[in-house]
Amino acid sequence: MQTTLADFIRDTAQGQEAEAILRSCVHCGFCNATCPTYQLLGDELDGPRGRIYLMKQMLEGQPVTAVTRLHLDRCLTCRNCETTCPSGVQYGRLIDIGRDVVERLSPRPAAERLLRAGLRKGLQSPVLFGSLLKLGQSVRSLLPSALREHLPAGIPTHSHSVQSDIQDSPDAREASATLTRRMLVLEGCVQPAMAPETNAAARRVLARLGIDLVAAPNAGCCGAIDQHLAAPDAAKAAMRRNIDAWWPYIKQGCEAIVMTASGCGSTVKEYGHHLRHDPAYAAKAARVSGLTRDLSEVLRDEDLSALKVFALNPATPKRIAFHPPCSLQHGQQVRGVIEGILTRAGFELLPVDESYLCCGSAGTYSVLQPELSGQLRARKLSNLQARGPELIASANIGCQTHLAAASDVPVVHWISLLDRG
Ligand code: SF4
Ligand code: SF4
Repeated sequence: MQTTLADFIRDTAQGQEAEAILRSCVHCGFCNATCPTYQLLGDELDGPRGRIYLMKQMLEGQPVTAVTRLHLDRCLTCRNCETTCPSGVQYGRLIDIGRDVVERLSPRPAAERLLRAGLRKGLQSPVLFGSLLKLGQSVRSLLPSALREHLPAGIPTHSHSVQSDIQDSPDAREASATLTRRMLVLEGCVQPAMAPETNAAARRVLARLGIDLVAAPNAGCCGAIDQHLAAPDAAKAAMRRNIDAWWPYIKQGCEAIVMTASGCGSTVKEYGHHLRHDPAYAAKAARVSGLTRDLSEVLRDEDLSALKVFALNPATPKRIAFHPPCSLQHGQQVRGVIEGILTRAGFELLPVDESYLCCGSAGTYSVLQPELSGQLRARKLSNLQARGPELIASANIGCQTHLAAASDVPVVHWISLLDRG
């Protein structure tokens, strides 16, 4: 697409990146066919092609209004459009730039700014988030339904560290003696409070394969929350903090950085891109991104017979509907891997219609766009539950809790299925 950027952005790194992306779009509109918001609203400006056009106008210096912001806000950043696009348009990178610019050129009302600042602060502090979650849980029945549904019905209290997990059971004690390999794991910001059992299960499963999974104490939020709420400088600060926390382990030979939440994995795999202009961190960020693996990518390459889940306990639910998070299938372009692992382990993976579509969770989207988010969740759950699964499995904490809040069927992280045996 022919593009002539305005003076305020033309000679900046953002401008050069945006211009290259805009030029790669041929305006064919194929992407609209798989865009969730276009499917729901049927408005060109709520599809990727229309949003790209809005961003082009903005970056060319045309007036930016609340309407521009509204259509960019309604985007889930699911990146389904990237998977569909035949021209390789990097929409996810463009919308990050577009959101940063629109925030500066058309500031939000104070109430919206306050809510976003509160989300960034509250979600990224595991201690604060955990305390708020416990408080909310204790008065759950008194809360308005809009707030109540963001709280899981029960919060597991058995959060384990690697060492306590390994030391707690005879099997694990036996396994700990044979942990000859070491990988890092990101605890993240929300998952430790919402679903501590996920990383505990990952540790037990990997320990049975001889892999010691360790968390660096000073690592925290991957930066995705800031990045998607148009705070790129704060996002980069989080990335640098994590790199500093992981670097000593990498120097000691940790062979991978394992992500148990695909939303975090999608972001950490792009640290190299985000910090490419930072002389002090560019090389380290590229190395970190290169070492980052979704948990499924680690298990795909291992001999899983040691897990002994192939002859499943008759009481173990076997009929599974799997929801592949957008951050896995579109963001990381990892598709079919978890389904393959679960099938090899003896589970029956039920067909799910529209499995390419977002469930409506999308980070903070379910809070900021509750109506669209709710419509997408209802559509997703209808498809997931259509063939009578015993369990729904997913690979991202956001999708897991969002779906669980309205599902008739329990929703779990897929690694817990391999942990059951
Ligand atoms: S983003 Fe891709 S699919 Fe969409 S209009 Fe542009 S070239 Fe076509
Ligand atoms: S990221 Fe998702 S919601 Fe946004 S334009 Fe692309 S397909 Fe549509």
